[in-house]
Amino acid sequence: MHELAIARSLIDIVQEEAGRHGLVKVVVIRLQIGVLAGVVPESLTFCFEMVSQDTLAAGAAIEIETVPLIARCSRCNVEFQVDDNIFLCPECGDPSIKLISGRDLSIVNIEGETGEEDGAGECPSGAEHLAGK
Ligand SMILES: [Zn+2]
Repeated sequence: MHELAIARSLIDIVQEEAGRHGLVKVVVIRLQIGVLAGVVPESLTFCFEMVSQDTLAAGAAIEIETVPLIARCSRCNVEFQVDDNIFLCPECGDPSIKLISGRDLSIVNIEGETGEEDGAGECPSGAEHLAGK
């Protein structure tokens, strides 16, 4: 299953990033997925929920932005969006085009909680801290 493998590598990256930024919990993960990446967003979200259990990204919301397929004509250099799988330059009709975006999956950013008091709203003012070990 394609999405499961992606979800697994995603959780690796997320955990690494979270560690680097001192996050104790990941709340939102924003992704950009190219239309040609062959990823079904619902399926990826489902797989991610599965593999993220027992990690600090458990329950994180995944926001997916779809990136259109953009290509550039090798002959006249015009950039255009490829629709309906028509891989021809709209200007000169040349088929020798180069894909610029739309094939990749990337993490845009990760939002989380650091566990420090930074106005996350978890402690009403004057509340006693439980972390007093
Ligand atoms: Zn052209």
